[in-house]
Amino acid sequence: MLKTIDRINNPTQGCDTEPLLELRDLRTQFITPQSVVSAVDGVSLSIRPGQTMALVGESGSGKSVTALSILRLFNRGDKVKISGQALWRNRQGEVIDLLALQENELRTFRGREIGFVFQDPGASLNPVFTIGAQIRETLEIHQSNEDSSLLAIQLLRDVGIADPDRRINAFPHQLSGGMRQRVMLAMTLACQPRFLIADEPTTALDVTIQAQMMRLLSEIQEKHNMAMLFITHDLALVSQIADRVAVMYAGQVVETGSVHELTNRPKHPYTKALLDCRPIRLYKDDGPDERILIPIKGRPPRSGDVSMGCRFAPRCNAQKDICMQNPISLEIFSGAESVRCLRWRDL
Ligand code: ADP
Ligand code: MG
Repeated sequence: MLKTIDRINNPTQGCDTEPLLELRDLRTQFITPQSVVSAVDGVSLSIRPGQTMALVGESGSGKSVTALSILRLFNRGDKVKISGQALWRNRQGEVIDLLALQENELRTFRGREIGFVFQDPGASLNPVFTIGAQIRETLEIHQSNEDSSLLAIQLLRDVGIADPDRRINAFPHQLSGGMRQRVMLAMTLACQPRFLIADEPTTALDVTIQAQMMRLLSEIQEKHNMAMLFITHDLALVSQIADRVAVMYAGQVVETGSVHELTNRPKHPYTKALLDCRPIRLYKDDGPDERILIPIKGRPPRSGDVSMGCRFAPRCNAQKDICMQNPISLEIFSGAESVRCLRWRDL
């Protein structure tokens, strides 16, 4: 029997839909022989059924570790310490803390309730089996009494793969990166999850395929009424897909808000800097032009190397002495928006 928590005591209670997943003060540390790496340091987020939350931040800010912590999908050798809560509302309306579950209890949530799409689809597909065999295998684990071949073909069609009757016999290496990503999505959908975590699903794809994939994710999310956590380092992508955004910096959430509010009226200097590093086009004499990202000056701190006060202060144009003196807490407004900056009202 799974332990359930009857009531979620959160500041947005009373809204018509309760959260599907709520992270509370999630902290994840890797214990390595050299040091303790604090990858996620007190993250709280709440996602409602059918809603898409984007999690945005530079590389190394703790986005993937946040997502992996929910289902404890770490590599076997990793020594990981997790604390906090990941409150999941099941189909009966009961609330279960995923972080309190045993490994065998948690397994029933992986894939079936919460699906994962990763950046590198190659790594998740088995090179020696056809994609049809791999989709059928997923279908048979999760729903045994349907004709799995027909369903597999339908799933490939749903994710926009042309000629699915033929493609189903292809091996992963015979497909492009974009197609492999679609196959991964088809496998994830085979389990009919209520929540999809897409971790930089388009980063490895070229720009046109990326746009197609974003459209597809949006369509599928709407059609299946799935909730989604869409992880990206590219804030420019989020307005296409998300309802809400959480910005992460050095293991912490520094700002949350609706896509509209956050992209039109960003409060945190880091969010502003991310919005300013939209890609620009470079023209070269001897070849095709290319798009580059103007980065934010300086580098994010390494874990263990964070300043006493605001973690972004060393890179912030607006920093004052008071920013460095004490840890900055997240200021929460109306339960839906928040910012971790002492000076945002003055900026
Ligand atoms: P992001 O997805 O935002 O690029 P990650 O969540 O992957 O960043 O990583 C956050 C931090 O945790 C980084 O400093 C990274 O080096 C560290 N980290 C991630 N995985 C491991 C691991 N297996 N062992 C030790 N440190 C790790
Ligand atoms: Mg990542």
